[in-house]
Amino acid sequence: MLTVNHDGISVESDLAGGRPACPACEGVLRLWGWARERLIRHGAWADRSLVRHRPRRGRCSGCAATHVLLGIGLAARRADSAVVLAAAIEAKAVGGAGHRVIAAWLGRPVSTVRGWLRAFAASAGAIAEEFTALAHRDGADAAGLWPAPAPAPSGRALAAVTAYAGVLAARFSVATMAWQSAGLAVAGPFFFSAGRLQGRGQHGLALMPGSRDGKGGKSAG
Ligand SMILES: [Zn+2]
Repeated sequence: MLTVNHDGISVESDLAGGRPACPACEGVLRLWGWARERLIRHGAWADRSLVRHRPRRGRCSGCAATHVLLGIGLAARRADSAVVLAAAIEAKAVGGAGHRVIAAWLGRPVSTVRGWLRAFAASAGAIAEEFTALAHRDGADAAGLWPAPAPAPSGRALAAVTAYAGVLAARFSVATMAWQSAGLAVAGPFFFSAGRLQGRGQHGLALMPGSRDGKGGKSAG
């Protein structure tokens, strides 16, 4: 499974350009039909909606493996959009809210929200390390993008991904990039799954709006 741009046209143009590469062998992916449909919950309470997503599937021209190409707004094995997951994690890491309060705020089951927060907390150390390194590697002026230091691991992880989102926004000439988009673009669809970050990054960054100029090179990890 790979994270790709969420509009179908750019998925096709990305693949035509050989990006992203096969995660198994770094071979070139070609479009290969469709993956199963997913029903994803977006928004909170009055704005909540259930949206059908049917991701494309890619097949590697090297090893013939097929891979689900998940749009950047979605996370693997989550029935809620990345925006919703990110809102819950921010509420915990920045606002200090507990999972019950967040569940009530978002209109989601308590156990579901607790699962998101635990998964992110379990990966927080690895996320902070990875994205701090990326921000220093790729950011000419990363210090200027750095949010205030946070004491808890989840806060440090959030700060590091936010800093790297700033680096990517500058690189792709977009005004802002949501931190969850940077996380998914770099680490792949399992960014919000516990213990799935290290060694699981994508070969080839999911390209961003306005990024079809070939600057989406290989990412570390
Ligand atoms: Zn392959």
